[in-house]
Amino acid sequence: MMSGIHAGTATPSGPGLRLTRIIATIGPASSDIGTIEGMIRAGMDIARLNLSHGSLAEHQEILSRIRLVSKELGRQVAVMIDIPGPKLRVRSLPVPDGSLLPQEKVILSADPHDGEIGIGPASYIPTVCEGDAILLADGAVLLKVTCVGETIEAEVVSGGSIRQGAGVVIPGRRPDIPYANDELVQNLSFAVDLNPDFIALSFVGSAADIAVVRSFLSEKQVQIPLVAKIETKYAVDLFDEILEAADGIMVARGDLGVELPIAYVPHVQKEIIRSCNKAGKPVITATEMLESMVEHGRPTRAEVTDVANAIADGTDATMLSAETSIGKDPARAVAMMAEIACETERHLPYRQILDERRLWHETGPSGIISYSACYLANELESKAIVAFTRSGITAERVSRCRPGSPILAITPDEQIARRLLIRWGVFPCIHAPIHTADELFFISLEMAREKELIASGDRLIIIAGNFAGVQGRTNMIKVQNVP
Ligand code: PEP
Repeated sequence: MMSGIHAGTATPSGPGLRLTRIIATIGPASSDIGTIEGMIRAGMDIARLNLSHGSLAEHQEILSRIRLVSKELGRQVAVMIDIPGPKLRVRSLPVPDGSLLPQEKVILSADPHDGEIGIGPASYIPTVCEGDAILLADGAVLLKVTCVGETIEAEVVSGGSIRQGAGVVIPGRRPDIPYANDELVQNLSFAVDLNPDFIALSFVGSAADIAVVRSFLSEKQVQIPLVAKIETKYAVDLFDEILEAADGIMVARGDLGVELPIAYVPHVQKEIIRSCNKAGKPVITATEMLESMVEHGRPTRAEVTDVANAIADGTDATMLSAETSIGKDPARAVAMMAEIACETERHLPYRQILDERRLWHETGPSGIISYSACYLANELESKAIVAFTRSGITAERVSRCRPGSPILAITPDEQIARRLLIRWGVFPCIHAPIHTADELFFISLEMAREKELIASGDRLIIIAGNFAGVQGRTNMIKVQNVP
């Protein structure tokens, strides 16, 4: 039944060979060496450290543990530092348990007196209007604004419990403060010292916000890929310019699902993924993917289907948040994500996907060769595509065409190898610079064998650029029979 769906395509071979990348958030449940090891073994490609929680010293320690364990296991793991952006939060509560009852009248203030809820930063308050909705506790608690002056007066529509530090969302309202505030600068300086492989930027609102961070990094003489988290209505409205300015995108569904009516999330997610695929930029689908696994050993059918659909739509990576940061069994959540990804990938219509992407690839020899490598791999049922890449660009171009075979990216640069871990299907291998085509053919066979991707009688597709050191210029393609 249904075998025609993937017939004739070069589907990934070998047990556990997975093309979708897995990002796992590290937190109190996963910061010890044993759990980090379990998560790496289960398939974590990128560890996310969220600076919204935990002290800077703790993050420093966790990062060195990740680097240590990945080295011991001989497994590449990248690190993404997630930086908080300007977010309105509950700063203080009038009562310790923070419970609000329907129809209760409340006052929110940046300078709270007795009985008032403290919120900040203060610059939000003038942007709020009578009739606005205020959402707390991830949208579970809803207030309606009745009057705005020095303070905000509101009535509770749906009650519930709120806690200090929780986010306060006023859909459509933007804080009137520059993105590059003191807190951001402090967090960025810390991130630079940690030398992460990616920086994720929360609450990005425009291309200018990304430009500010980029110029900060270039002043420090570092270049770190920036992933823009799309989590507000204003970011959705300016998505095209944000995509152009960023190196990657995260569909941050947690905040997005509160900022937008929740029913908008699926189609916004699909549109974002498609735009990223077209632009050749990596895209991460995040939050509540396997939420039940925070508490339970198994996800719900709906969660499994959510992960599979994000993969079918074209996400490069799926992300675990609470499942691994505070969940009962972080390694199990990663293993489950990996299992869903593998099974979903076996049924993707790679030929159809490639046909659609024919119009998306870059023109010029590099783009055409990368696309052709995928076409050949599909037609010849090649077990892998080998891309020799100094800058990573050659492998990225292949990844963007979504071949059904793994992309072995041979690069001399360790950091480039880790940065490729955000890309669908790319398996980075580090090797000293290669100077001739014959050397590359030999090494490609050797590495593909080492990774157990090929057997005698199989075929490899090999692409490379100029061996003299010009980056990103792909001009060679070879069909290599495996002796
Ligand atoms: C989100 O809101 O979905 C998200 C990923 O951001 P954070 O986990 O930093 O709240």
